[in-house]
Amino acid sequence: MTDTYTPGEIIWCSGCGHFGVESALKQSLKNHSLEPHETMVLAGIGCSGTIQNYIGSYGYHSLHGRVLPTATGVAAANPALTVIAAGGDGDGYAIGCGHLMHTFRRNPSIFYIVMNNGTYGLTKGQPSPTAVSRADHEHELDALLMGLTISGSSWLARGYVGHMEQLVELMDAGLKHVREKRGFAFLEVISPCTTFNDNYPSWREILVNLDADESYDKGNRATAIGHYAELIASGKTPSGLIYEGNASTFEDATGVTADNPAALQNLTVSKHIGKFQEYMDAYTM
Ligand code: SF4
Ligand code: MG
Repeated sequence: MTDTYTPGEIIWCSGCGHFGVESALKQSLKNHSLEPHETMVLAGIGCSGTIQNYIGSYGYHSLHGRVLPTATGVAAANPALTVIAAGGDGDGYAIGCGHLMHTFRRNPSIFYIVMNNGTYGLTKGQPSPTAVSRADHEHELDALLMGLTISGSSWLARGYVGHMEQLVELMDAGLKHVREKRGFAFLEVISPCTTFNDNYPSWREILVNLDADESYDKGNRATAIGHYAELIASGKTPSGLIYEGNASTFEDATGVTADNPAALQNLTVSKHIGKFQEYMDAYTM
């Protein structure tokens, strides 16, 4: 399929931040020498969700908010693939938020890229869960702070399309984490919507690059939470690699490996009918 699939024509508006994400991802796949047949990109619903049409790898357009369980299923079915899930803040932090927190807990070796623009671009500019403009009546969600507080999270970062060199470095590091089967790599990218929420200049004032802070310990969850919360309270937004640690993974728990993929396990009814009959007999006794 990857031989015959021709990437589609990009539909994003001029200046949309998602161009930077697509370009950084392609560069990072190249840096890792990943061939199209070794990679699968799954996407959620929204402007950002069309990204999988533009990469020549295997691809899948998931249901709204359901990209993470779908990607986890792909990683279990064929662990030899490098699995990348991508979507927006509306898709991932509203309808998909329940899946996000449980994916932190489950820690599967998949890379999740959320393009955060604080709006629902595809449906013409409604406020999303990260919309600062609605803070007078609802407070915005910070998915990285949420991820930091969930034991089991193992790699958390925030990039910005206005800082492309750092964005490629973060993608390289996130892909490395999942390719080494160390668990879930979560990268939020600030990716402004030029049509409905054009806030490029404000991010340059707000972002604090933790990669440039030598005193910051990215391996210490407790101090990372404290420092992160202090920056938020002072009106800043942390960027760079926020946390990197070791936690048991989905692959540890399930035993699926490239040599023992779920797709090749015998799940036929005839194999399990005896056990099923035992359960049924227990209820009828
Ligand atoms: Fe990008 Fe916004 Fe246009 Fe969607 S509406 S393509 S998010 S600029
Ligand atoms: Mg959005």
